Amino acid sequence: MSRASSLYRLQELDIELMNSHERVEEIQQILKDNKEVVRLRDVLENIETELKAAQIAHSAARLDVDTQRAKIERTEKTLYGGSVQNPKELHERQQEAESLRRYLVTLEDRLLEAMIKLDETQEERDTADAALTRAVEIQALRHKDLNLEHEKLLAKIERLNAEREAALASVVQGDQELYEVLRKRLGGRAIVLVHEDSCSACGLVLAHSVQQSIRSGSDIIHCGQCGRILYAG
Ligand SMILES: [Zn+2]
Repeated sequence: MSRASSLYRLQELDIELMNSHERVEEIQQILKDNKEVVRLRDVLENIETELKAAQIAHSAARLDVDTQRAKIERTEKTLYGGSVQNPKELHERQQEAESLRRYLVTLEDRLLEAMIKLDETQEERDTADAALTRAVEIQALRHKDLNLEHEKLLAKIERLNAEREAALASVVQGDQELYEVLRKRLGGRAIVLVHEDSCSACGLVLAHSVQQSIRSGSDIIHCGQCGRILYAG
């Protein structure tokens, strides 16, 4: 193995390691993030509060109607029961019964409104409940896949680290230091392939003699333009 090919192998492993670490972090972030479920839980909670209020309003409206009907029944019983004989009193009772019936219409309208509101809120609650259940299921499925991927990545990183250790054995000490410095300076790519007589990173066309030196592999040859180490492949 030439000095350049050893470094190239090291770089391949480092790039793969970097990508794996990035994906691990990404997965950990996604696993932590359950914003959608939290949001839907809040929505459901609010609707349930609304539903409770609608149930109370409905019961109260129902009670008002029942009470009014009982009042009317009592008044009519007095009216038609024959206990009231005085025409003036009879007239007053009739008016009272009419007024009670008129108000019953208002109370029945209110009850109807309360029923509609209750139905609508129940429907909203069911919709919100279903949305939350779905989100929890989707999250669980996603998390299952991600957990599996996470596990595989950790095993892969372990394997790559072992391979890196092995690869380092064939890298000359000074070359490794040079490689680390270049990687830091040149965005992770310290060593690049020669492609169609040029540096594959910056495109500089390489002289024939330079290419020969690269191919011989005994020396480290840098690109005259971007400074990367060149590797014939
Ligand atoms: Zn270059």
